[in-house]
Amino acid sequence: MPELPEVETVRRTLNELVAGKTIDRVTVSLPRIIQRPAEPEQFADLLAGRTIVTVERRGKFLRLLLDGLTLVSHLRMEGRYGLYRSDEPVEKHTHVIFHFTDGTELRYKDVRQFGTMHVFLPGEELDSPPLNKLGLEPLDDSFTLESLRRLLGRRPGPIKPLLLNQTYVVGLGNIYVDEALFRAGIHPERPADSLEKDEWERLFRAIRDTLGRAVEAGGSSIKSYVNGQGEMGMFQHSLLVYGRKNEPCSRCGSAIEKTVLGGRGTHYCHTCQPPFRGKKGAPQTGARKAR
Ligand SMILES: [Zn+2]
Repeated sequence: MPELPEVETVRRTLNELVAGKTIDRVTVSLPRIIQRPAEPEQFADLLAGRTIVTVERRGKFLRLLLDGLTLVSHLRMEGRYGLYRSDEPVEKHTHVIFHFTDGTELRYKDVRQFGTMHVFLPGEELDSPPLNKLGLEPLDDSFTLESLRRLLGRRPGPIKPLLLNQTYVVGLGNIYVDEALFRAGIHPERPADSLEKDEWERLFRAIRDTLGRAVEAGGSSIKSYVNGQGEMGMFQHSLLVYGRKNEPCSRCGSAIEKTVLGGRGTHYCHTCQPPFRGKKGAPQTGARKAR
């Protein structure tokens, strides 16, 4: 499943490929992809003749801003977009084709068929499902240390599931939460309301850095074909804890541990991310743990 950096990479690439193009007509061969309006014929009628102004993103949803309408697209598990010439053969599992007036086509392919598309009047999409319940956008200027603390600072639950909750912060999936908590030196089960000021600062910076670096890495590895499946690009090689169970920690050499928290596989270093032992005092050190 693509995470936020992959969707951001898709957004950037898609924007380069299709901004300025005018849709001549739309072919829908799998109606269930189209969630709004109810009928795929209506969907095609609404979009015909519109020009794609730009491609934006909200959480893991792509927002294609057209003149007079917004198309919201979620790739879910395996949705992909690709730009083709109209004379190129259509591949299997291609469910929606946007035929442009310049003889090119944007094709949406989805083997698992879980992807969705919704059409709204401009701006309406932000106040309607599925976008209306989404939380802070971690790569936006609106995401600040203060906004993060205000949102989660008084919650007694463990920090990792809180960070995964899309109604608080969007787009932080399992991989990037594990990476950010490691970089911040915070145990995934730490109660959010036990975090000290400097820990919030480290966590905030770690979230920004981890996602920012992933976007840069992804952005440099994708060319004309947009991989909506969310190939990890070059960032895969710089994951510090995720998928590294039993490997030595890059900081201290301890074996990376894997546990299950809130139903999700969770990777961490027990030395660099010491477990929480009470609300008072500084985070525990490895030495104290051994005592
Ligand atoms: Zn370590």
